[in-house]
Amino acid sequence: APAPVSALIDRLVRPIEDWPVPGVTFRDITPLLADPEALRLVVDALVDVARTTGPIDAVLGIEARGFIFAPAIALELNAGFVPIRKAGKLPSTSFTTSYDLEYGSAELEMHRDALQPGDRVLVVDDVLATGGTMLAAADLVQQAGAQVAGNIVLIEIQALGGQEKLHPVGGSALRTY
Ligand code: AMP
Repeated sequence: APAPVSALIDRLVRPIEDWPVPGVTFRDITPLLADPEALRLVVDALVDVARTTGPIDAVLGIEARGFIFAPAIALELNAGFVPIRKAGKLPSTSFTTSYDLEYGSAELEMHRDALQPGDRVLVVDDVLATGGTMLAAADLVQQAGAQVAGNIVLIEIQALGGQEKLHPVGGSALRTY
């Protein structure tokens, strides 16, 4: 990412130690969201990354913080926005996938008619940590017969190995810690 955007993320994404559990440094993006200039620069940088992935039919946002950025990217790409939600939230028939959390597991869902077979999609979230969430999104895309063209986040926590889990598509981050 261009230097100003990395510097903005360093300055405006607030690390919160031991939240929500001991040992985790939570990356709190709310100060960045509240700054109009920073918000615009970060969205522009995400769109620049998105444009390098070729033609895109839909931009998928992962609940909840992926919902903040995915629609902004979709508008710039003239693509639609598709929500990937936690289990039990979507009203119509859905694909479901379960994935591992630090303790236990969770489920993500996507409407069955959200994508067409062969669609090329982008998956958007705020943070790539272990990669379990992005991989679960890829499973939903695969169930729909569509294809992940790119995974885009603001922040990647490199030591957790998410990048390897997303091979061969990989993830693109504006800032890596
Ligand atoms: P993972 O599945 O381990 O890659 O975790 C990614 C998901 O959990 C994303 O939806 C993030 O919003 C959230 N997440 C994981 N770790 C952090 C962190 N250190 N700070 C903020 N969000 C995180």
